[in-house]
Amino acid sequence: MINWLDIIKYANHGSPKPSRRVEKTDAEWEALLTPDQFRIARQHGTERAYTGAFCHLFEPALYGCVCCENWLFDSREKFESGTGWPSFTQPVTENAMKYRKDSSYGMSRIEVLCNVCDAHLGHIFPDGPMPSGLRYCINSASMRKVSTTAVQTATFAGGCFWCTEAIFKALNGVESVLSGYSGGDAINPGYDQVKTGATGHAEAIQVIFDSSIIPYEDLVRIHLHTHNPTTLNRQGADVGTQYRSAIFYHNEEQQAIAEQVIADEAANFEAPIVTELSAFGQFFKAEAQHQDFYARNSDTPYCDVVITPKLQKLREQYSDKLKIHT
Ligand SMILES: [Zn+2]
Repeated sequence: MINWLDIIKYANHGSPKPSRRVEKTDAEWEALLTPDQFRIARQHGTERAYTGAFCHLFEPALYGCVCCENWLFDSREKFESGTGWPSFTQPVTENAMKYRKDSSYGMSRIEVLCNVCDAHLGHIFPDGPMPSGLRYCINSASMRKVSTTAVQTATFAGGCFWCTEAIFKALNGVESVLSGYSGGDAINPGYDQVKTGATGHAEAIQVIFDSSIIPYEDLVRIHLHTHNPTTLNRQGADVGTQYRSAIFYHNEEQQAIAEQVIADEAANFEAPIVTELSAFGQFFKAEAQHQDFYARNSDTPYCDVVITPKLQKLREQYSDKLKIHT
């Protein structure tokens, strides 16, 4: 979860890297947008309070950038601020937006822009609801509702989640990956409990992806080929049920696809695939130090020896499935 200190840091020292970039000339943007959208999103304008289409809309929705459809906010993070502009307390991913100091109109504020195409979205203030305490004050004209029918969740386990997270984060169409624990009994377990094997959880990742860009079938196939699905309760030196290979399907369609892919891939492995296939129950997010571990620790021996070669293999086998910056 992003808090005000993160925002100050981003505004002073630079924001997280975007997952892709879109760049167009003003004339090209003008041709794609309405005059209001162009004035607000491309020329740092502001719509009048209470006039925006999304001001009072609270039905389930995913809001994207009006210019490039980069996912910005989920309606679950939207709240009624009483200001007359759509207000959110968290972005959908940490790198969805960039933050810039703005001293226009004699005020000291922090501007929020789309991290993919630099569209002006609005401003951010530290007076939102807890726990983040943030209020993203966003122009309706800078956003469009994104179709959510293609957006799905997938849950995979394949040994140490530092590895699986790094792999899935590199895939085009994957919007977010969280490291955590799934497939066990205890509620909200911590790393120290899970690593004993006693809770029954596997180190797992929760993947939010756009199935119109990368189908579930591709995710299952890539999962099988980026860990060892033939060693029971073991990945290399990591031994225990917490390191088991598993696919936790979220619906019957995912179950049928996973069964089919495993059957199709059997001939490509020297030993039988022992990946557990079971219905998704619960996912508990791991502690902050386990999130985005590879990106923050890529020079450490474990990352260097275990994860970097896996990513190299991914680049060789699946270069057409990767985000442009990887
Ligand atoms: Zn954008």
